[in-house]
Amino acid sequence: MATIAYHCKFCQRPGTAVYDPACDTLRLEIWSKILSCNHCSDFMVSRRSIDYRISSVCRAVFVARNQGNKAVRDIEAVAWDKLEVLTKDLSRMCCAFVGVTNVWDKEFIVLLMERPELSQRITNDYFARLKRAKAKAIT
Ligand SMILES: [Zn+2]
Repeated sequence: MATIAYHCKFCQRPGTAVYDPACDTLRLEIWSKILSCNHCSDFMVSRRSIDYRISSVCRAVFVARNQGNKAVRDIEAVAWDKLEVLTKDLSRMCCAFVGVTNVWDKEFIVLLMERPELSQRITNDYFARLKRAKAKAIT
């Protein structure tokens, strides 16, 4: 076994990875650019899971509204409760990862309920704003 030095593709922190030099199909110059540290990898996997669940709830609302479902108000009420739990989980996770105070607001749910088809963009924008707030606090 051999080691290769890399910089995490997300946080740029240096790290080392172990590989088998006998593997002649390994293209280290490409492979080393996609490595990420455990901290970032764990966060990305957890975040993807919550993002997926938020998208599923939003999709149900979007479909109910567009199909003229008679139970749309009930579906929205259930979605609101689910989104409150999910967005609080997402907020707690993202704020801890970025290193800022947990900033959850009911407006997060309002945005998702207003435009459920844009749930992925809304959660991505939220995370981008947290990172900008952290960068601003540092400078
Ligand atoms: Zn990292």
